[in-house]
Amino acid sequence: MVSRHLKYHINDLTADLLNLIWPATCQACGERLFKTEEAICTNCLTQLPRTNYHLWAENDFHKLFWGRIPVMYATAMYLFEKESPYRKLIHKLKYKRMPEIGIVLGREMGYEIKDSVFNEIDLIIPVPLHPKKKKMRGYNQSDMIARGLSEGMDKPWRADILKRDTHTTTQTRKGRYERWENVNSIFSINPKTSVRGMHILVIDDVVTTGATLESCVAELLVNGASHVSLATLAFAHS
Ligand SMILES: [Zn+2]
Repeated sequence: MVSRHLKYHINDLTADLLNLIWPATCQACGERLFKTEEAICTNCLTQLPRTNYHLWAENDFHKLFWGRIPVMYATAMYLFEKESPYRKLIHKLKYKRMPEIGIVLGREMGYEIKDSVFNEIDLIIPVPLHPKKKKMRGYNQSDMIARGLSEGMDKPWRADILKRDTHTTTQTRKGRYERWENVNSIFSINPKTSVRGMHILVIDDVVTTGATLESCVAELLVNGASHVSLATLAFAHS
């Protein structure tokens, strides 16, 4: 029988050999990664064009929702700039089967925001992907970001609460939420779960118009969430 110690040793050796044949490279700059690095090198992580929106209440991402829907806090990790090497990270995360990019960036964002107002949140919920798209892609990129973020922030995440409806429904909103009845409802809450009284942090990869997030926020508030905050990896400034 192979001892546990030896097994670890063999696994380590295999990893080293594999790394010799196919050296792991940074998905942003192409440089070879150190053994302790995953998907993105430390240098690229340090040089990300960060927004620091988590320290700034009236930031441009938050302002996107003013007059549309109540959002408690909103942050985006970095700016989605044209010609930037960081732009392709999102593309690779979504279309090139590189879920680890989402986990690494999510974790990094988690470390950054855990000691800010974002520490008030109770639960992390990723924006659901249409089931057909998820099947094609193999995973939901927002789940990967949520997973990393959960690790970095030390807060729970769940992907079974918010569902993307397979067909668009026209829903009539009641009571104090009537004013959001025009928000196009493409999401629903799993009836076996609840968000009542919770401060939810919704996760997305990149935000442009904010329409999808607006629909998520509406659905969560209608179902009794006390507050909803938002965190995305990138923000495409218009
Ligand atoms: Zn790099």
